[in-house]
Amino acid sequence: MKWKSHTAIARAIAEEANIHGECRQALYQGVIDPDRSPDYHRNQSTNGINTFSRAAHHHPSTSMVMSYVWEARKAYLENDDVAAMRSIGRALHYIQDKSVSRGFRGWTHDRREEAISKLEAPAEEVKRGFSEAQSSPDFVRECIVAVKNKKNPHKALKEGTYYSALIFASVFSPAENSCEMRDKSLRQYKHRKILLGVSIMTAALAAVSLFFEIYPLTAAGALAAAIMFAENRHYKDVKRKASWYGTRKS
Ligand SMILES: [Zn+2]
Repeated sequence: MKWKSHTAIARAIAEEANIHGECRQALYQGVIDPDRSPDYHRNQSTNGINTFSRAAHHHPSTSMVMSYVWEARKAYLENDDVAAMRSIGRALHYIQDKSVSRGFRGWTHDRREEAISKLEAPAEEVKRGFSEAQSSPDFVRECIVAVKNKKNPHKALKEGTYYSALIFASVFSPAENSCEMRDKSLRQYKHRKILLGVSIMTAALAAVSLFFEIYPLTAAGALAAAIMFAENRHYKDVKRKASWYGTRKS
């Protein structure tokens, strides 16, 4: 998309979210940042030589977009609203480019972007996106994956605006909206952390008993530790959610 279109969507979102001044300017900057200071992917060839290529805008990697979503969420939890706007702007740039089809070999691409730049960002799509937001990192990831590239300029702008608003509102949902999820996430996190500690101690006990040749204890300890580690396989996921809700510092 052209800068004019990126900025038009950012403006429609800022209007709906009542964002002004320095924060609005940071969002406007962020939304064109990837064209001015591109992201690079590292490619390693079979002979171990690293080469770097510019990250694709029309087919961005979900994990790269998610890394900017996380940056924005963390800044928001730390009350650094300007940094949060800049990072979310960067993530939204990729969402907006992803909604536009490059067409066969990119031949029709420039004409399509030109047509989009003449259109107004649809305010009703911003409202729809805001009303469907959910404060969850998994939900945001699903939204990024769901963005389809469209050939029709109206449809492309509609898609880009809707998903930009949906992701924006999901990342900045106030904590009150997610109180229940927050509490659940905190309980789960504490529980899993204790379980991890106990399983490490049991594994250590099994190792010590092996050293002293108390084999039945080794076998029992190793089995118990294995079961506890298996039980705790979602620890990383719980930890990630705790970071999202601000119940865990990282
Ligand atoms: Zn771009």
